[in-house]
Amino acid sequence: MSKLILPWVAALALAPLGVQAAPLKPDPARLSVDVKLLSSDAFEGREPGTRAENRTVMFIIDRMQEAGLQPGGALAGGKRSWTQDVPLAKFTFNGPLDMTLSVAGHPRPLTQGQQVAIRAAQTNIEQLSFQNAPLVFVGYGVHAPERNWDDFKGVDLHGKIAVVLVNDPDFETGKGDFGGKAMTYYGRWTYKYEEAARRGALGVLIVHETAPAAYGWATVVNSNTDAVYDIVRTDPAQAHVPLEGWIQRDVTVALFKQVGLDFEASKKRAQTRDFKPVPLPGATFSVSARVSHQVIVSKNVLGRLPGSTRPDETLIFTAHWDHFGVRPSDPSGDRILNGAVDNGTGVAALLELGRLFGSAPKTPRSIVFMATTAEERGLLGSEYYATHPIYPLETTVADINMDILGVYGPTRDVSDFGDGQNTLLTDLMQATQAQGRSYTPDPSPEAGHFFRSDHFSLAKRGVPSMSFSPGDDLVNGGVAAGRARREDYFAHRYHQPGDEWTPAMDFRGEAQDVALLYSLGKKLATSGWPQWNAESEFKEVRGQSASQRQP
Ligand SMILES: [Zn+2]
Repeated sequence: MSKLILPWVAALALAPLGVQAAPLKPDPARLSVDVKLLSSDAFEGREPGTRAENRTVMFIIDRMQEAGLQPGGALAGGKRSWTQDVPLAKFTFNGPLDMTLSVAGHPRPLTQGQQVAIRAAQTNIEQLSFQNAPLVFVGYGVHAPERNWDDFKGVDLHGKIAVVLVNDPDFETGKGDFGGKAMTYYGRWTYKYEEAARRGALGVLIVHETAPAAYGWATVVNSNTDAVYDIVRTDPAQAHVPLEGWIQRDVTVALFKQVGLDFEASKKRAQTRDFKPVPLPGATFSVSARVSHQVIVSKNVLGRLPGSTRPDETLIFTAHWDHFGVRPSDPSGDRILNGAVDNGTGVAALLELGRLFGSAPKTPRSIVFMATTAEERGLLGSEYYATHPIYPLETTVADINMDILGVYGPTRDVSDFGDGQNTLLTDLMQATQAQGRSYTPDPSPEAGHFFRSDHFSLAKRGVPSMSFSPGDDLVNGGVAAGRARREDYFAHRYHQPGDEWTPAMDFRGEAQDVALLYSLGKKLATSGWPQWNAESEFKEVRGQSASQRQP
């Protein structure tokens, strides 16, 4: 044990919460072992619905049992089980995928994963097939009446492919009606698809640019070109257009040029209110592929510690267990997306929190530890829980989510994804201060992290939620080193085969963060109801159930 960890050990002993300190301490070695195991090749990248899921779920249940948690999942034969079944619609291309882009009648073949990355259609069709669909540039593809912004201006997108920019209209200028550099939900790719579906488009191609997307092309390819998943819908065509995908920036720039347009100038116009959709004259897209769809059943895993005096009030900790599985091929020769940091680290922290709370005296409120499935496929496990809650959302105190924690050693600071929006941020800051550390706002608000992990599914339904994020200010190397590490991770390992455990990883920082989340959790599991900030879009839905929460 190095001297570096003394500050947090001291902080734990002095936890200013008027309750007993935990008899156990977060253990960096145990975190390391759990991450190493979960991300080993034996776990095959933890894809939902595979044998790797069984292995992962069994491991998590074992650890939860060992920690003294009780089964917190669905009722089975009158007793709680450890899991909640999550039905998922799974879509894959079946056989060859033929795509062409034509300009002035000259077709050029496109290769999946190279110029474009297309998702298997999620509309329950057997065949994704159309010829020569016209392309229309719709700018950022935003319809935001409350901001007096409409990129569509009544354009008819039926039978057409919308070409759309990622992020929101003021990302590049840094100031405007969409939070400046920070991303609003209008900037997320999920929004682009949803809006196109509302308008009955045939397809959407999102132009990939690394800065506004917040990740590189390799990440786009890994997240889109294999199986895709959705919740099971009665009318999937309401939620999806047949063709959803991304197109490389260079391919787009060349295409614009061929039809007599300038990409950068067109983008500039899209950053203004008067932008109108621009048809790409003579440019068309064709595709022919068979699609298979099936329903699989995956699992959320839930352990619970019942509260001593207010057991019907629940604090939830979440961390997704899933990742992207095994690719058919990868240029690096490594086909397994191991997901060590994303999200072996979050699951390890969840289990460690279970162990700490499990060995401590009961808190007044209940605590649920939920390892969710299919987060990587669009927050689907948490979405299913939020729409089929086992513990009422009205009396769910908060969700503290963990996704991508620190493996570079102790830090002087901590952060969160997308800057709070609720009083959990104040609670986090207080707990951080008690540890002798500080809070740093989300260093990349433009990445839209608030919408990118499981806490968002609960936030949408009003539950005060936050996704904890480690700080960049490394005790060994400072902010510059920490930021460089984070950027290097997102460029070279995030959603790629290189996200693997290494002996060089230093889990003392994660242990420090688990200690922090333990003290934050203890406060929330004792008393008080966190509140949404006045300007938050989630305040109203929470307000509707105010009478159900006892002071
Ligand atoms: Zn993740």
